[in-house]
Amino acid sequence: MRPMLVGNWKMNGDGTCLPLIAAIADAAARYPGVEVTLCPPATLLDRARSIAPALGLGAQDCHAERDGAHTGDLSAAMLREAGADLVLLGHSERRHDHGEDDALIAAKLRTARAAGLRVLLCVGETAADHAAGRSVAVVREQLTRSLGGADGEGLAIAYEPVWAIGSDRVPEGAEVAAIADAIRDSFPGEAPRVLYGGSVTAENGAALFAQGGIDGFLVGRQSLDADAFTAILKAMLQASTVRHRHPEGGHCDR
Ligand code: PEP
Repeated sequence: MRPMLVGNWKMNGDGTCLPLIAAIADAAARYPGVEVTLCPPATLLDRARSIAPALGLGAQDCHAERDGAHTGDLSAAMLREAGADLVLLGHSERRHDHGEDDALIAAKLRTARAAGLRVLLCVGETAADHAAGRSVAVVREQLTRSLGGADGEGLAIAYEPVWAIGSDRVPEGAEVAAIADAIRDSFPGEAPRVLYGGSVTAENGAALFAQGGIDGFLVGRQSLDADAFTAILKAMLQASTVRHRHPEGGHCDR
């Protein structure tokens, strides 16, 4: 399975950022060993699709209903028409700032799939859950409820500890690998790709990826800089070589 790198611009970026999108598309084309998807604000999807026809593009959210009286919201089909092929669902900023619960996320997932979008479903524990040693249990429960019975088809999971997002703190590689395994074990059939997200840089990304257990990254701040984002892409490719030399997961005592 090709590793995946997803950039989430959140509520950042306007028409002046099109050269940045072009630069990211260029890097994605130069390094096809990693599947790259960029999630700019929905207002840029259409223009991004015009200037970067081959780049993976994602939306950052969609409504749970197919259409209707939902002022200000965007449906999965609208986002698909604008150029998205994927949608992020369950990002912690939506769970915590907008009160989205697992049942709503499961409904969004069903609607997104019906509209032909792939889904990157985000799960992750809070600092309090982490401190109490409840990370695996919380993530498993969130996952089961947010999936609402959906299988792994067209799906990727982002493990994003809430305390690591935007904080410059990252968990230990072994901890990330154990949670990624628990996520994979939750799928009876073929498991989806499991990404890690939360303060990823080229430096910590190289170490996390070489450790093994994850299939890529969901990146916030560092995706707003083409050089920083490309550095993460290159670090993943370099770390893949380390993983191949240490197939048990890239653990190395030195
Ligand atoms: C995110 O928003 O999903 C994220 C991981 O942000 P950052 O990389 O800035 O921590």
